[in-house]
Amino acid sequence: MGVPLLDLKVHHEPLQREIMAALEQTFKSQAFILGSEVSKLEGRVAGYCQAKYGIGVTSGTDALLVALMAIGVGSGDEVITTPYSFFATAGAAVRLGAKPVFTDIDPITFNIDPAKLADTVTSKTKAIIPVHLYGQCADMAPIMDIAKQHNLSVIEDAAQAIGSEYHDGRRACSMGTIGCLSFFPSKNLGCLGDGGMAVTNDPDLAERMRVLRVHGSQPKYYHKVIGGNFRLDTIQAAVLNVKLNYLDGWTRRRQENANRYGTLFQQSDLVRKGRVQLPEAIYRFSGVKHHHIYNQFVLRVERRDDLMAYLLQKGIGAEIYYPVPFHLQECFRYLGYKEGDFPASEGAAKETLAIPIYPELTAEQQTEVVETIATFY
Ligand SMILES: *Cc1c(COP(=O)(O)O)cnc(C)c1O
Repeated sequence: MGVPLLDLKVHHEPLQREIMAALEQTFKSQAFILGSEVSKLEGRVAGYCQAKYGIGVTSGTDALLVALMAIGVGSGDEVITTPYSFFATAGAAVRLGAKPVFTDIDPITFNIDPAKLADTVTSKTKAIIPVHLYGQCADMAPIMDIAKQHNLSVIEDAAQAIGSEYHDGRRACSMGTIGCLSFFPSKNLGCLGDGGMAVTNDPDLAERMRVLRVHGSQPKYYHKVIGGNFRLDTIQAAVLNVKLNYLDGWTRRRQENANRYGTLFQQSDLVRKGRVQLPEAIYRFSGVKHHHIYNQFVLRVERRDDLMAYLLQKGIGAEIYYPVPFHLQECFRYLGYKEGDFPASEGAAKETLAIPIYPELTAEQQTEVVETIATFY
């Protein structure tokens, strides 16, 4: 039968009429740049993230870029981040002339390890970019402590983590200086193409990012700073204003799917035999809240590459996020890192595998995924 890694067709089918109506309305208005759909979405998404201001931008990548521009990152600056993330996290800093400095991850959460962070701060450090990888918040309290101590900005890469909560209930994008979201179609809140948002509680930074988004123009055709064209399309904002109404339900279903995988894997013996290690939602307390939003459900497994080939051959979607940590990427060879520098990241790159977790995944499909993995072993 097979199970895809993500099924956008079943995801969008029930919303087709509502989305088409939103598109039609935008088409009728013939107003395609910024406007009320964008500002409405900015307010709603910022509120959803427990923050004050949202600036709709072209992508998650450009949210990171605009955020780093707004805090003044430039050549000579160092930006600390994880070596284990999607490329944009480090790429954005380098595009502004900064030097990326990597700190290894915690092997359980795959997020930057705050205990290792202090050692990498130098007099040139300007910012830290923690990533809330796979939908679980990085350990923000100690990160913010270190940032405060050294007067650094913290840019949260929350591309995979909209609505994810830290142990005290604070949401991704509300804890750092600026938070960055992506609306790429595979994220928990995805549009019909590329889109993103920078979120902040700081009114001055919000204003600066709004100006940077339109080539630094303020008023129109007068430029005190150099920005770019980083505007979120009105048509994407209109779609997102529809889809945001359903986000909580989708998140709940992802969490239910994660719980069901837990039960199925325990029943299968795969966990007890050490073949499969399940992802841990570390902020789950008193059984009340479940803060992981599971943009990805990532296992640590024995014989990863063989298992992946087997699953794909059986029609089960699986993907490696991410096979090469930043410090071993060809484009970063000039930084002088070598194999062995970040063992937790290198281990994760070699041993982990994402399996389907999307909201519409059925219990039968999950059983098929787990049974196919059991058959492999
Ligand atoms: C998706 C993603 C991005 C980039 O978002 P785009 O919208 O694709 O540009 C950045 N960081 C992380 C961790 C991501 O997962």
